[in-house]
Amino acid sequence: MPESQVTPLKSRSDHEPKPRWLRVKAPTSPEYNATRRLMRTHRLNTVCEEAACPNIGECWAKGHATVMILGSVCTRACAFCNVATGRPDQLDPHEPDELAQAVSALGLDHVVITSVDRDDLDDGGAFQFVRCIERLRETAPETTIEVLTPDFRNKAGAIEAVTDAKPDVYNHNLETVPRLYTEVRPGARYYHSLRLLDQVKRRDPSIFTKSGVMVGLGEERGEILQVMDDLRSADVDFLTIGQYLRPTERHHAVMRYVTPDEFAEYERLAYAKGFLMVSSSPLTRSSYHAGDDFRTLRANREAKLAADASARPADA
Ligand code: SF4
Repeated sequence: MPESQVTPLKSRSDHEPKPRWLRVKAPTSPEYNATRRLMRTHRLNTVCEEAACPNIGECWAKGHATVMILGSVCTRACAFCNVATGRPDQLDPHEPDELAQAVSALGLDHVVITSVDRDDLDDGGAFQFVRCIERLRETAPETTIEVLTPDFRNKAGAIEAVTDAKPDVYNHNLETVPRLYTEVRPGARYYHSLRLLDQVKRRDPSIFTKSGVMVGLGEERGEILQVMDDLRSADVDFLTIGQYLRPTERHHAVMRYVTPDEFAEYERLAYAKGFLMVSSSPLTRSSYHAGDDFRTLRANREAKLAADASARPADA
């Protein structure tokens, strides 16, 4: 469905000012401007800008940007997303090099790479992910790599190819609860996305898997708890939960602002269900604090493996 046909929904929250916990300062720092210039120099798109992310001032001041490969035009039209829909750009063969140069210039120890959906390409864009990972491994071997991929629906071999390139973290967001897929994520299928995560983990258990949902789209608390159970059944390690914010009037309405206490409760419940790492707060986004969170994730896995080993009987 073209973006222009996304039906705007009205909710009480449309007329309410944003709660204080969602207010952020406008980005102005010199470091923010330096990151912006660097992205322009290397002709790189970022989801930070395309999605009008509220954390851009904080992240870019630290040089943390999430690069969006495969162009700036998406073949899908999700009701929550601000990325343009239409005829996608030509693939840029220099993109992996430009990305590698930008990562070196920023001195990143952890990089997040995402993309638009490319249903028009035979491989869904999977091999551009692979090329970016390979190039980064050559130029920045110490930098850990997180990919946040599309669902690669109907693209045989795509998930396997990206997994075999061995990113440190494979992220794919479920975005919302299954009941809301037809209105929020019409081109996607909940169980396909869940299977993708399961498939990655089975193929390479050393890769951390990660997924996220937005809240405030009209979901019920019990549905979020079910999503947590589904993700644990796919052995997903890391869960992110953040408040949905409406990019424009044409997008899905914010049905509710979830309070910080409710986010804290989701975090507590998710840890109780066995996730290695949980980030749940109003401003949480997939890539927010991704570098720090990756270090915690790795430490949590090591601690769990050590605890499992010491709990095993000596003669086992
Ligand atoms: S949270 Fe992610 S998308 Fe938002 S500004 Fe930070 S790095 Fe970019």
